Amino acid sequence: MTDYPPADDRLKHLIAQQVNLGVDTWKLAFWIADGIVKDPEIRAELERIADAHSKGQPCGDRHCERCFAAALTETDR
Ligand SMILES: [Zn+2]
Repeated sequence: MTDYPPADDRLKHLIAQQVNLGVDTWKLAFWIADGIVKDPEIRAELERIADAHSKGQPCGDRHCERCFAAALTETDR
């Protein structure tokens, strides 16, 4: 069990790690990640997706690997 990313700031750290691959500084990555986690529309969309999944429904997001994998399993049957 690791202390990183911190439990109370996990989403931001995960986003910052990803953003950091494309920007010059960790500070900039962190600033961008901060804006993302605080964006109400992004949070609402994450909740909508999680809500759909919890009901066993496809979320409809084309980048969703979970629904992509589920659709593949479906056609295998
Ligand atoms: Zn999905």
